[in-house]
Amino acid sequence: MNNKYKNILIPIDMSCKGSWENSLPIAIEQARNHQATLHVLTVVPEAEIPAVAALLPAGLDRRLRDQGKIALHDLIKEDIPADIVTEVRVNQGQPYKEILRAAKDIEADLIVMASHRPGLSDYLIGANAAHVVRHAKCSVMVVREPAESKHHEE
Ligand code: ADP
Repeated sequence: MNNKYKNILIPIDMSCKGSWENSLPIAIEQARNHQATLHVLTVVPEAEIPAVAALLPAGLDRRLRDQGKIALHDLIKEDIPADIVTEVRVNQGQPYKEILRAAKDIEADLIVMASHRPGLSDYLIGANAAHVVRHAKCSVMVVREPAESKHHEE
């Protein structure tokens, strides 16, 4: 057994159903093969910017984080087998910055993420994936959709 990876990070965009359809099975396989901990992260938006904070209901940011946590726990119950050691994390802010921050915090040695939202042309890489690939200190596996599920817009 090659236990090269200890901490695998999979960032998941909960607002984009299906964006983890291809990346999650690969992250699970890697976690199992390496007996690594799988850290599942979602990044929720930050609503309470100072300029508008006074106009918003109190505790909005906390509610966004709580909703993110509930959604992640549901996903883990449904889609991650019980033999995988899983940690849940909800960060708030700009996705790529928070993905990089989380990778540093958990000392990730592998990040597994989709290249972009499902259904876009295969040569594209989304803004968050591009930033993470460029700036991460660890390996990043960018998972593309299988060829047969691509919408051929080219
Ligand atoms: P697109 O611009 O097509 O949405 P992205 O680069 O944003 O492409 O998405 C690629 C991957 O980035 C997602 O599959 C996910 O791994 C990660 N990602 C994007 N948004 C978030 C988010 N809010 N929370 C966690 N991960 C995210």
